[in-house]
Formats: sequence, structure tokens, C-alpha cells
Amino acid sequence: MTLFDGLNATVKTDEPMAKHTWFRLGGPAEYFVIPETRTDLVEVVKRCNENDMPMYVLGSGANLLVADSGVKGVVIHLGGKEFKEMTFQDDTLTAGAGVDMGKLVLQCVRQGYSGLQGLTGIPGTVGGCVRMNAGGAFGDIGSVIESVTVMNRNGEIFERLREDLAFAYRSSNISSKFIIGASFLLIEDDPHRILKEVKQIWIYKKNSQPLSHRNAGCVFRNPRGMSAGALIDKAGMKGKRVGGAHVSDKHANFILADKGATGFDVLKLIDMIRDAVAKEFGVNLEKEIEVW
Ligand SMILES: Cc1cc2nc3c(=O)[nH]c(=O)nc-3n(C[C@H](O)[C@H](O)[C@H](O)COP(=O)(O)OP(=O)(O)OC[C@H]3O[C@@H](n4cnc5c(N)ncnc54)[C@H](O)[C@@H]3O)c2cc1C
Repeated sequence: MTLFDGLNATVKTDEPMAKHTWFRLGGPAEYFVIPETRTDLVEVVKRCNENDMPMYVLGSGANLLVADSGVKGVVIHLGGKEFKEMTFQDDTLTAGAGVDMGKLVLQCVRQGYSGLQGLTGIPGTVGGCVRMNAGGAFGDIGSVIESVTVMNRNGEIFERLREDLAFAYRSSNISSKFIIGASFLLIEDDPHRILKEVKQIWIYKKNSQPLSHRNAGCVFRNPRGMSAGALIDKAGMKGKRVGGAHVSDKHANFILADKGATGFDVLKLIDMIRDAVAKEFGVNLEKEIEVW
């Protein structure tokens, strides 16, 4: 009898997290669970609580560094069927937490709805992007959210409406453990015009970010009124290397993982960058990426 017997969910033990992060780094998760439906998720959470197992929620791992020692506890990925559904009703798009952001943007183009194209080129799931209020120079996801469906650690599900949500730079006031879906209020628009915008943003991203290497996007948050990338660059850290990890020459706030890199290499490089920026400018950089 194991922890998750009889559940309508994919359950794996000692699952390498390197398979589930954009860095392609990270040791094994003690349990890796993909519930099919909300009801199954409630049951997974119940079993975790009964057995005092820590829970970790995984999207597409685009903002995540997992330690080489792996994760003690249960990694829950909302990749089951019910979490991958998306539906348009007039100008409102509702999507499950597991929907891929790129697919969502393309679907909006096809249906002729404007609002999410600013997220072009940002990898992630709806759940992860809402959690992080993903975005940048072309807008963030929070600005078009109509409501978010969340679930707390006790398995209770709530609807949070726009008027009681607050989104800020890479953060929000959503504290519930699970985001299980979101609705977006969009504007009807010409598909050709939206596609043109998508292409322009994509070209900008390709030119400014080192997309051909394994990475997890910006490692540090921009301190108020400053660019973390510029500080790292001016502190002389561009190109610095620890083992298989190095600071990108193209964008100094990106750490790239080469063949043979370990989570330890990335963590060590993060410490070195922080020390260098603190020493040079007296600024303490805060991590944007999550470390498990
Ligand atoms: C090449 C590249 C470029 C990037 N560019 C940008 C950019 O321009 N702007 C930007 O904002 N980000 C950027 N990122 C970072 C990343 O795309 C975003 O942070 C994105 O929101 C991560 O989504 P995810 O599903 O992969 O989340 P994950 O990395 O899996 O998780 C991130 C956090 O969200 C939590 N989480 C995930 N799913 C859920 C859920 N369903 N419920 C509750 N919590 C959840 C996790 O527990 C974790 O705390 C970039 C990353 C890469 C690799």
C-alpha cells in the first residue's frame, strides 16, 4: 500500500526533476503526481496532509531551479485533462492551470482576441504565469485577469474576482497553494494585426534573450528603478563561470547551463553575482527564480 494507491492520477517515485525544469537540472522528487481532475487533486492534497508530506506545485519549470539532492515530498503537476481545458465565451477566455501559455496566445490569435499577446515568448503554464504575474515590457498577465480559481492546503476551492486581486511586479496577493484556473477578459480584434504584434515581440525576445541555452529566465528581480542585468554587467560578472554554469553574454540576468552543469554550479554562481553586486553598488539582489 503506497501513499497514493487507488487514485486517478499518474504517480511516480524518485522522478528526476531535471526532466521537468527548463534548466534541465535537479535531483529526484520523492513523489511526482499528476492528478487528472480537481476531485483527484483534492484527494492528493488530503493524502499529503494525512501523511505530513510537503507539497510543491510545478508548472512547466521555467522559473525553477531544483537542487541536485532533489525534493523531499510530493511534487504536484496540474497536467491532467481537466487542467488543460480552455474555452472562449464571447470575450472571456477560461483556461485551466496546466494550459501552456504559448498555446493560449496562439489560440487568442486564431479566435481574434487581443490581450494576452504581450506574453509571447514567455514559457510557462497558466498556473505558473498567474502565480508569478509573468510579463514584461509588453504587458503582464495580471492586467487581463477577470478571475482566478484557487484551492487552499485543505482542498477547499474558491473563486477570486478581479476587484479583490492585486498584481504587482512578478507578484500578486494570491496566497492559496494552488491556482487551478483563470479567466481573462479580452478584446475582439483582427487576427492579422494580433499575429503581427506576436511576431514583433517574438523577434525582440529572440534578439535580447539567450534562448538557445538551458535557462530559467531572469535570475534576479529588478531592484526598484534599476535593472538587475545592468548591475550584474557593471559588476563585471558577464561571462563568469562556475563549472557548467555561466552568466550570459547577451543578457547578464540569465544564467545558462551547459552540458555537465549541476544545480550546485548555478547556486554558487548566484551567490557570486549577489556578492559582486552588493560589493560594487551596495544593492542586495533578490532572486526571481524559485529554488527547491
Ligand atoms: C527563456 C525564458 C524566458 C523567460 N522570460 C520571462 C519574461 O519575459 N517574463 C516573465 O515574467 N518570466 C519569464 N520567464 C520565467 C517564466 O517563464 C515565468 O516565471 C513563468 O510564469 C513560469 O511558469 P511555469 O508554469 O513554468 O512555473 P514554474 O516554473 O513551474 O513555477 C514557478 C512558481 O509558480 C508556482 N506554480 C506553478 N504552477 C502553479 C499553480 N498551478 N498553482 C500555484 N502555484 C504554481 C510554483 O510553485 C513556483 O513557485 C522566462 C523563462 C525562460 C526559461
